[in-house]
Amino acid sequence: MSHNVSPAASPFDETHDELRASIRAFVDREIVPHVHEWDETTFPDAIVRRMGELGFLGLSVPEEYGGQGGDYFTNIVLAEEIARGGSGGLLMGLSVHTDMVMPPILQFGTEEQKQRYVRAGVEGREMFCLGITEPDAGSDVAGTKTRAVRDGDGWVINGSKTYITNGTRASMIMLVTKTDPDAGHDGFTIFLVPMDTPGVTVERKLDKMGMHASDTALIAFQDVRVGADAVLGEVGNGFKQIMWELQAERTIAAAGVTAYAQYAFDKTVEYAKERETFGRPLGKHQAIRHKIAQMATELTAARDIVYATARSYAAGEYDVRRISMCKLYATQTADRVADECVQIHGGAGYMAEYDVSRVYRDVRLYRIGAGADEIMLDVIGKSFV
Ligand SMILES: Cc1cc2nc3c(=O)[nH]c(=O)nc-3n(C[C@H](O)[C@H](O)[C@H](O)COP(=O)(O)OP(=O)(O)OC[C@H]3O[C@@H](n4cnc5c(N)ncnc54)[C@H](O)[C@@H]3O)c2cc1C
Repeated sequence: MSHNVSPAASPFDETHDELRASIRAFVDREIVPHVHEWDETTFPDAIVRRMGELGFLGLSVPEEYGGQGGDYFTNIVLAEEIARGGSGGLLMGLSVHTDMVMPPILQFGTEEQKQRYVRAGVEGREMFCLGITEPDAGSDVAGTKTRAVRDGDGWVINGSKTYITNGTRASMIMLVTKTDPDAGHDGFTIFLVPMDTPGVTVERKLDKMGMHASDTALIAFQDVRVGADAVLGEVGNGFKQIMWELQAERTIAAAGVTAYAQYAFDKTVEYAKERETFGRPLGKHQAIRHKIAQMATELTAARDIVYATARSYAAGEYDVRRISMCKLYATQTADRVADECVQIHGGAGYMAEYDVSRVYRDVRLYRIGAGADEIMLDVIGKSFV
């Protein structure tokens, strides 16, 4: 069912195809009609609850925590179909929830944490956010300044996190802190902090260039007291845990952005067939047809690298070089494709009412978030020399 994928490259079987059809029907019915409205207002919590009721938020979560027990490719199907619905902001908000916060809890959390958070997250009763970035530490995660200090049996946290997706609506933040400034990479600890804990303040909802359907926040932590049960996994293991998390984040970002660029491409092909200039449809001008051919080729290559990477990830390989290449290539491709889609639409492409203009604004983020181009290049380069 996926576009332009040779059967050899596709990781999907009939179960995935059935899942895709059911998500697609839901998206067409309950998301597509609201995409423009949500770009003004941000997506409502009700759509998250609805997806929880339908079982879409726990596709690969074990059944004992309320999930569907599917394989990793079910997450790829979800990201692709949400992207195809046309709301980049919803895609991002959901990806943080399902692919960035819940997997580390399942991987490193206690049974109590899994029952408490994963179940609520899968049911869509609660939504989560991930706090890595700080005003003074983005690409350089090791520069984290948010500090957690032991206090009796618990901890006291002070610091600040910025650009936090779902930050105004989340019930819990997965928070990266420094617990021992002298221990290098062993000095980090992750906490699961309920957002209603005294001392946690959403300071500002941030205005953005794109991804308008998603809420983004600056969050302050002042003398925030949490118990020892808020620690995720082992004290001192936070850096390794977040590097593990980032691999899933980059893979799902690559899958989502490729599908989102495909959505813009499909809209553009339709437009190129209908819009006439100089007496014939745009698509019949060779210069435009070549742009379409170039985009289709690059999207196919991006999808192939996404699927190959997803296969490797699902097989339990921890192939950081491959994942970084995948993230770099998919996001740069999506950026180029979105730019060409706007160009082919001409003035219409610059109008907010046209879907391609939203995609153009939204996809720009992907070359910055989850490890910017330069960081991906550095990771790939260091793996060689
Ligand atoms: C809409 C949005 C949503 C986000 N959601 C979240 C979220 O939910 N949770 C979260 O924790 N973070 C989130 N982020 C933050 C995002 O991950 C960071 O913006 C990103 O990691 C880059 O960090 P920075 O902005 O501090 O840039 P910086 O680290 O200041 O980098 C600035 C530029 O310099 C480049 N650069 C940095 N160091 C080097 C180097 N050594 N060599 C060459 N170039 C370099 C970078 O690649 C980048 O292009 C979000 C960001 C945005 C915009």
